[in-house]
Amino acid sequence: MTRRPWIVGNWKMNLMRGEAITLAREVAAIARDVEGRVDVGIAPPAIWLDPCVGAADGTPLAVYGQNCSTAEKGAFTGDISASMYRDAGAVGTLVGHSERRHVFGETDEQTATKVQRALELGLDVILCVGELLDERRSGATFEVVERQLRVALEGIDLSRITIAYEPVWAIGTGEVATPEQAQEVHSQIRAWVRENYGDSDADSIRIQYGGSAKPGNAAGLLAGPDVDGLLVGGAALTAADFGAIISAAAG
Ligand code: PEP
Repeated sequence: MTRRPWIVGNWKMNLMRGEAITLAREVAAIARDVEGRVDVGIAPPAIWLDPCVGAADGTPLAVYGQNCSTAEKGAFTGDISASMYRDAGAVGTLVGHSERRHVFGETDEQTATKVQRALELGLDVILCVGELLDERRSGATFEVVERQLRVALEGIDLSRITIAYEPVWAIGTGEVATPEQAQEVHSQIRAWVRENYGDSDADSIRIQYGGSAKPGNAAGLLAGPDVDGLLVGGAALTAADFGAIISAAAG
């Protein structure tokens, strides 16, 4: 089965309003150019979601949140619910990004609740998983990834899930996994999906790689047969770099 490449830019806590709108417009134009060949998304800061959704209107650019609350609504000062993201025009959200897990201390269980909440409130999910450097060095990479997948996806219908394999040691560090390292873990993830969910889900689910993806390494990473796309941080902050990565995916 062919899985269409899926390239998403995670803007994290970067860009002011005008910069965000300009970049969203530029990326929307690129998404239109590659329509049908590459799926393109952006995850802007929540406060700029509304103008970015406006900039993407009428184009195939998917606008995502970067996170969502475990709760549906109520007394959670500073938090944003999945239904609010949906109401603002987002079609999905990242869940379990390594910065949420390791900077904000979110647990596997909270990540699982967020996956459920996002899906039931109408958002697709990019579930991020990945090991720390010490875990890789001690040979525990797939043990960690498997635990994160198992807890987050227990009882979940995978049809609206993308998995992003993001080794924590490669995120924002400039140290990229080799194409072989990425492919190895991606194939283990797909085998795990096959064993637990069956052939149809294993063949159709898209698994992105994330961690210092750049114009110069994107094609190599995407060459892995189980690497279906990229979740891009730093290199998604300019249309030139992000566009070059999307072009690499378009082949
Ligand atoms: C990310 O934020 O998901 C990410 C992969 O960041 P970077 O590309 O900057 O490593």
